[in-house]
Amino acid sequence: MLICVLASKLNNLKTVKAMENFHFHKELIAACGMSCGVCIAYLREKNPCPGCRKRTEDKPKYCITCRIANCEHLEKTESKFCFDCTRFPCQRIKQLDARYRKNYRTSLIENLRQIQSNGIETFLQLETIKQTCPFCQKTLSVHRNFCLHCKEMVNVTE
Ligand code: SF4
Ligand code: SF4
Ligand SMILES: [Zn+2]
Repeated sequence: MLICVLASKLNNLKTVKAMENFHFHKELIAACGMSCGVCIAYLREKNPCPGCRKRTEDKPKYCITCRIANCEHLEKTESKFCFDCTRFPCQRIKQLDARYRKNYRTSLIENLRQIQSNGIETFLQLETIKQTCPFCQKTLSVHRNFCLHCKEMVNVTE
């Protein structure tokens, strides 16, 4: 239902404006379904994290040592997304998903299922719409319930 509502917005003017701010790309979607482009660590001005797919040391330790990003089974998948794994959704993914649903109104498993069903390009377009502030058109953070730029309260899941 949410996908249909969001997809219908693809044609309106506001969406066109949002697409101009587009900065999501495939490399910003982690194997677990996390959209690093809306992570507060990626969006911060000082020492921003380059995202999960960049295997560098300039990111928080919990992401460098992440058991999902470093999972041995991930290497065996063709897409390098967890949905391609025979163990999906494994306990690690379920726990992370539960934490994100509880704290950040986002389901990483749902993100993965959308990518699996509709393809990464459609997911990136919908993610851009979903994560664009309706007040100032800048990118929202999944980790905050207000816009980092204009400070308006937002709820990205509704
Ligand atoms: S801190 Fe983790 S989730 Fe956030 S952008 Fe970096 S790798 Fe992605
Ligand atoms: S679903 Fe679980 S076991 Fe499979 S690649 Fe992802 S983290 Fe590893
Ligand atoms: Zn805003």
